[in-house]
Amino acid sequence: MRPFSYTTVSTVRSAVLQVSPDPKALYVAGATEVLNLVREGQIAADRLVDIRALPLTSIRPGAEGLHIGALARHVENHPVVRRDYPVLAQALLAGASPQVRNMFTPGGNLLQRTRCSYYRDVRFACNRREPGSGCGALEGNNRYNAIFGGSDHCIAVHPSDLAVALTALDAVVRTQGPAGARSIPIEELYRLPGEEPHRETVLDHGELITGIDVPASRFAARSHYLKIRDRASFAFALVSVAVAVDVRRGVVRDCRIALGGVAPRPWRARAAEAALTGKPLNEESRRAAGQAAASGATPRRHNRFKVAMVERAVARALSEVGD
Ligand code: SF4
Repeated sequence: MRPFSYTTVSTVRSAVLQVSPDPKALYVAGATEVLNLVREGQIAADRLVDIRALPLTSIRPGAEGLHIGALARHVENHPVVRRDYPVLAQALLAGASPQVRNMFTPGGNLLQRTRCSYYRDVRFACNRREPGSGCGALEGNNRYNAIFGGSDHCIAVHPSDLAVALTALDAVVRTQGPAGARSIPIEELYRLPGEEPHRETVLDHGELITGIDVPASRFAARSHYLKIRDRASFAFALVSVAVAVDVRRGVVRDCRIALGGVAPRPWRARAAEAALTGKPLNEESRRAAGQAAASGATPRRHNRFKVAMVERAVARALSEVGD
């Protein structure tokens, strides 16, 4: 394993000052991801800065929405989250295993790397890990890869369940970097791969996620997360769906539908939202929304099944939020 130095910090300012000027420095919190990547050689870090002592652990519900600190623990157990943001609690409970969730931090989860097996195995070519080296998944086994948003350089999918739920809730990510604080709508946090798949987010090096704000909305309370995977626990999504609907007088006034396991970032299914808005929530409109969600997909050799899976998963997730 590559040797690295390890330091702890107690303020956000000192954390940013330590990591920003050093391209080989990284933040570490729960250590469920970074240490594996350093050990296995996917990322080269000489210095890990432990941020667990930073005061970023609060979960604050209020009239304007919900604030989640980047280091908040067990968000899924907070009574207000379970009651008013069920899609969030369900997505968190669908992630990893209880042991990993004990170490989980929301900020770290949003920045986890793809599970593409060619990225994880350093013997294979991977543009995301080593720019310009090629992409093993394009002609290899691409069962788990993207059907939306990929490029000729990368078809990886983003693995976070939390990010998909937050996309359906219009969440905003708060950051602190050397140039100051920023608020980034979660849909704008992740880049599509294009010709530069190694540039995964819009964050600058050393820019630290400090928290997540979920705005109050009419649709958050009527929401659901559905995750379809190869086994019932400790597996990443083949397809996941986060739905949130505002139904008044029997008609969908507003809705959000976001997909996971199908694109390099959480994938907002706007065509499905348009198909559902203004309609009664019934079998016909659910099926139409599912078909709209799958439209425009560009599957590869081994993942054509995901197209039909998206169609059915969207319809099924919508059936869970009632008529
Ligand atoms: Fe690497 Fe992306 Fe290709 Fe996977 S799909 S091998 S992450 S470039």
